[in-house]
Amino acid sequence: MTQKRRSRLVPDVDFDRDGVQHGYVRLFHSTHDSAYGFIPIPISVLRNGTGPTALFVSGNHGDEYEGQVALSELARELQPADIKGRIIILPMANYPAALAGRRVSPIDDANLNRIFPGDPDGSVSQQIAWFITSELIPRANLVCDLHSGGSSLMYSPCALMTRFEDAERTAKLREALIAFGTPLAYIAEPAQGQGADQTLGGVAAQQGVMALGTELGGGGTVTPVAADMARRGVRNLLAYLGILPERARVAPPAPTRVLGVSPDAFLYAPENGVFEPLAAPGDMVTAGQPACRIHFPETPGAAPVELAFPRAGYVLCRRVPARTKRGDCLFGLGVDA
Ligand code: CA
Repeated sequence: MTQKRRSRLVPDVDFDRDGVQHGYVRLFHSTHDSAYGFIPIPISVLRNGTGPTALFVSGNHGDEYEGQVALSELARELQPADIKGRIIILPMANYPAALAGRRVSPIDDANLNRIFPGDPDGSVSQQIAWFITSELIPRANLVCDLHSGGSSLMYSPCALMTRFEDAERTAKLREALIAFGTPLAYIAEPAQGQGADQTLGGVAAQQGVMALGTELGGGGTVTPVAADMARRGVRNLLAYLGILPERARVAPPAPTRVLGVSPDAFLYAPENGVFEPLAAPGDMVTAGQPACRIHFPETPGAAPVELAFPRAGYVLCRRVPARTKRGDCLFGLGVDA
């Protein structure tokens, strides 16, 4: 189904050529300011002979930067002689969003990671999704989509995957998850995640390709810890795949703790107000422990609402902006699987 309709995007790199190529995928977009112009989506291809292919993506959400830093660096530093096989790097997948530093595209307002598999005749973001679905994923043995919490969430850096019905397939992907080398990792259930079947990783899994993700930090910024984890993780994955030699692997400071995420592990704002968190990403919390207060400075004399954690777990993420509205996610917990 994925190969039926051809992508309109034109890469100026040759995926089958040995060497290092830095270029652009052209997405022709005729606008008032640029009648015959194209949107230049950055891409790097490194290849040395036969071997597995790793596809690394960041900037799927434009306001998530750790992956953009680590992947740009990887593309710049690795030499073909260092590798065996092929690495395809798309550091700003939703280029218009990444250029604007926003989660969604300023052109069509689309969230790239909620519109897969995309549409070759659709909007700009839909065309990008279809290019990745039909041209990049089928070339890959493993896809790693580097995310963080974006502008509104801060994560304790972790790698993640989705469980399959097939235990053997799950176990194999779990090996790659551990190989990435973050202190925390989590395994989502198949039915979990908002529109999981519309994500890049979801579409890769449907195509039978190993798909991993990360949540490396967030808050619309880059922290040294999260950026280093991204740097280490991508090289560790390449060593795991045999694209880099085993000696390139950097052991994590502590064994990875693998968590699950249950549906009741998210805390949402019950009211509009000012969010005062009482726990931080990485904290271990207990059931009933105070999580935050929501204050109502617009209503003199109104007491804040205090929320408690519904269960014990690790704080995987918390909301960053203080101003919150009913329905915003305030905390996400990882629980021992
Ligand atoms: Ca994200």
